[in-house]
Amino acid sequence: MAYADFYRRSITDRDAFWTEQAALIDWHKPFEQVCDYSNPPFARWFVGGQTNLCHNAVDRHAATHPDRNALIWVSTETSEEKIYSFGQLQAEVERMAAMLLDMGVKLGDRVLIYMPMIPEAAFAMLACVRIGALHSVVFGGFASHSLASRIDDAEPVVIVSADAGSRGGKVVPYKGLLDEAIQLAAHKPAQVLMVNRGLAPMPMTPGRDQDYAALRDKHLNDRVPCTWVDATHPSYTLYTSGTTGKPKGVQRDTGGYAVALASSMKNIFLGQPGETYFSTSDIGWVVGHSYIVYGPLIAGMATIMYEGLPTRPDAAVWWSLVEKYKVTSMFSAPTAVRVLKKQDPAALKRHDLSSLRALFLAGEPLDEPTASWISEALGRPIIDNYWQTETGWPILSLCNGIEPANSKFGSPGKAVYGYDVKLLDENTGEELTGANQKGVVAIEGPLPPGCMQTVWRDDARFVKTYWSSIPGRQVYSTFDWGIRDEDGYFFILGRTDDVINVAGHRLGTREIEESISSHPNVAEVAVVGVADNLKGQVAMAFAVLKDPSLAATPADALKLEGEIMKVVDGQLGAVARPSRVRFVTVLPKTRSGKLLRRALQAVCEGRDPGDLTTIEDPTALQQIKELVNG
Ligand code: ATP
Ligand code: MG
Repeated sequence: MAYADFYRRSITDRDAFWTEQAALIDWHKPFEQVCDYSNPPFARWFVGGQTNLCHNAVDRHAATHPDRNALIWVSTETSEEKIYSFGQLQAEVERMAAMLLDMGVKLGDRVLIYMPMIPEAAFAMLACVRIGALHSVVFGGFASHSLASRIDDAEPVVIVSADAGSRGGKVVPYKGLLDEAIQLAAHKPAQVLMVNRGLAPMPMTPGRDQDYAALRDKHLNDRVPCTWVDATHPSYTLYTSGTTGKPKGVQRDTGGYAVALASSMKNIFLGQPGETYFSTSDIGWVVGHSYIVYGPLIAGMATIMYEGLPTRPDAAVWWSLVEKYKVTSMFSAPTAVRVLKKQDPAALKRHDLSSLRALFLAGEPLDEPTASWISEALGRPIIDNYWQTETGWPILSLCNGIEPANSKFGSPGKAVYGYDVKLLDENTGEELTGANQKGVVAIEGPLPPGCMQTVWRDDARFVKTYWSSIPGRQVYSTFDWGIRDEDGYFFILGRTDDVINVAGHRLGTREIEESISSHPNVAEVAVVGVADNLKGQVAMAFAVLKDPSLAATPADALKLEGEIMKVVDGQLGAVARPSRVRFVTVLPKTRSGKLLRRALQAVCEGRDPGDLTTIEDPTALQQIKELVNG
């Protein structure tokens, strides 16, 4: 079936469409109603049905193919590699489930997981959903303050953690941060389960802290059946990346999520049982939830969990894994590609990548030059896809299983089935149906299966934040700008708050960035609007060069700045020309690789940069401060 028809059916014949997709997972009890949208914008999917995420991800495959690879763990930090078959994975998950039950975790309770990228983190997630407890994974790189606020929001009965993570060969101890966070938090977890990797000291608090290895021994042979839960039972909560402000606690269901992921593995990520999937994300982010843990396993695939940097021991490490494990689908982020772009492209050609059907990228805009570069270097198709923590799976992508790959660089593709995507005028709410008109990317309710149910414990915030920003209609806003061309391909132009106004001209910072990154010496760039007495706002650019020595002297820097301005003049016109182009070695980003534009802008305007809990490298902002003030 042509994709256009497949898509249309998902919207016009919604219930029949999703009933078919629902057959991709196992149901303990069949559902009675496909979608209950009697109380918009709250959608309830597969009402009356009962299932279990862990059963679909693990048990059903362990029953038929116990020896097949399920979890392949690779750490270039500790030089370890471990493979768990579906049978072994189920045994470990059952042990972990037994431990959680032993510690008093009950149906609907929250378990907070604060872990590095080790197999026990995946066991813990799967063990939670196995017994109907909600996990709340907090990215292992966060320090005590961020952790404490998440402890207070989730109110976990148990916290699962480890002695330490490791990054670039440097041990990052967790236990001290965790103890401090628990001290700071108003809510106190009853118990803490600690995995000891032997990397850092792990002082235990008697009566509260338990050693994982010891407790595992006690439950070595325990069997814990899956608890069948309603399709609408929440499976987990997870925070957004905090790029635009305070992170929002996204709550996801069980049945809809399982169906959406199973369907996306088939129709978007092209995964077949027995094949290997490699997502380079972290379990602390939504990509890690959907496409390290649940999606590939639900599809019966092996999934690679990687602890380490993309450039250590060298820039070929990921591609060596692709070759070794015959990876068929790989998922990464543009930020990682830009890191590789600063390395020798020959490293990408050293390995046999013939097993790889495609490299999927998401998380931030994939500019055309970066897309072309990686596509050329790898010799494999690159598929950009656009989504949010809130949606849990792609909103825009190429649905290759149905349509031959026909990507347009710079575009994350077309509306994914199930999503009634609209472009709306931000002021009037009017739908923009013409080609290449710029509007807010919005989704008509109900959101398809797999998307957020609500904001954790805050229905009012869900309605107010997401469904009330467009005048005159209740529609879900992504808070991103987009256009759609005559062929139905979307282009994301940046976030709705990333528009700057220079002497009355409204400019998207993304367009200026795209233009600057077409200069051959630029590896990556950030453009922000900065208040200006004369023009209202001016654009200010910060660029990272492929070779920093090109701007070694002030004269070199000035010359390059002039060249870059000329590029922008030529492509967008003088009005879009940044007032300055400054050179830095690193840009301020969140730990998930997104540009912290609001912080950058605040520093440029001499304001307090605000909440920086999710920043990757605080020195990045320091560099900018010095440039701006110096
Ligand atoms: P917060 O909502 O807390 O400010 P965040 O929006 O960065 O944080 P995520 O849910 O991780 O949190 O990111 C989703 C956003 O990332 C999208 O709304 C969009 O702005 C951007 N994004 C994701 N994928 C793409 C893509 N393929 N192209 C362009 N932008 C993308
Ligand atoms: Mg967001």
